[in-house]
Amino acid sequence: MTDAGDRVKVVTNDEAVEGVLMPSESGKVVVKLESGYNIGIDKKKVKEIKVLEKYKKSEPAKAKVEAKKGLPTIAILHTGGTIASKVDYRTGGVVARFSPEELLEMFPELKEIANIKSKLVFQMFSEDMEPEHWQILAKEVQKEVDNGVNGIIVTHGTDTMHYTSSALSFMLENIPIPVILVGAQRSSDRGSSDAYDNVVSAAQFILKSDFAGVAVCMHKNMEDSACLIHLGTKVRKLHSSRRDAFKSVNVLPIAEVAREGKITILNKNYPKKGNKKFNLLDKIEKKVSIVKIHPGFDYKLLEFYENNGYKGLIIEGTGLGHLQTAVLDKNTEHHKKILETVRRICSKIPVVMTSQTLFGRVEMNVYSTGRDLQNAGVISGEDMLPETAFVKLAWLLGNYPKEKARELIGKNLRGEISERTDIRSTL
Ligand code: GLU
Repeated sequence: MTDAGDRVKVVTNDEAVEGVLMPSESGKVVVKLESGYNIGIDKKKVKEIKVLEKYKKSEPAKAKVEAKKGLPTIAILHTGGTIASKVDYRTGGVVARFSPEELLEMFPELKEIANIKSKLVFQMFSEDMEPEHWQILAKEVQKEVDNGVNGIIVTHGTDTMHYTSSALSFMLENIPIPVILVGAQRSSDRGSSDAYDNVVSAAQFILKSDFAGVAVCMHKNMEDSACLIHLGTKVRKLHSSRRDAFKSVNVLPIAEVAREGKITILNKNYPKKGNKKFNLLDKIEKKVSIVKIHPGFDYKLLEFYENNGYKGLIIEGTGLGHLQTAVLDKNTEHHKKILETVRRICSKIPVVMTSQTLFGRVEMNVYSTGRDLQNAGVISGEDMLPETAFVKLAWLLGNYPKEKARELIGKNLRGEISERTDIRSTL
């Protein structure tokens, strides 16, 4: 009796092939060879399949860690993603599967520098996260703050980690401790994983700095030499696969954490520990969306939001914060309709302009297009990232009356708007 995952030797008249048995495909026995390649062998030709080693599902490790007196405590809240994934040798794919205990076993250093508490909050890829998951996570953070921990590491899939870091930044008003989100671009059971440095650097930063707020800790570059701490509202995933995919946009990162644990502050403008009152403001208005402008944009897309009960809209405009408004010839006649629709929607709900350039600031006074849009009621998103503006508007509309939300969207609350955009911040 063979099962997928077994190490086998498949014998035919012409050859004998060794490898890991994969789930069979119609009429074929599929074997993953040592080289990583799969080969399919016609079932009719197979004379014998010898099992060399049965597939063993690994038991989750149980790391019962004794609390050491005098050491600070860090809580690790797991949400899933690649950092908590391993290769499933049955299918060859990457699945979210690490238990918190297993993950802790992989970072033994953590136990030397802090007492670690570990909790599985979700086991999901971050593209599946909904605003409700941000709310659950924010409540978990609050519980740990009440428990008196010194800092929190949130392990998270990288795809939407910057949405979650923004959401937590707004929801956790005056959080008295550091909350550091950490992801990985290579699953944690691979030798090349970046998980180790990201997690340990986050812990070092928690223990050695006076930061109190929400940040992201990821690789500085392609090597494993250092990590960067990015403010939660100013960070974005800007590469699909590189380990340094996360960049601070329009500001310098808060700090660099070298491999040996040395912290260098790069930007002093970050929230610090103090004794302000911590407040959980975790409501979210879900009827908020982002619209990306492009040549050929159809005003009916805007009408969709108008007619479906949306309470706020972020426009990801071009350049300094533009969209097509000028009528020049018959191909541009519909631009009039676009501007009319924008004006009508602005009279009902807050509409905020951000830029798809990501770097730089929306400036709606420079060109007549921007002035027309301002006259129509579009609010400038300043140098906020579109994703941050989206989360902020959803959060404002969830927690404040509409007029207050309108007033606060252009004001800096959590470092999401910088007074002056740092020109050193480029890709
Ligand atoms: N797409 C998954 C996620 O965001 C896996 C990628 C990753 O963790 O980086 O959770």
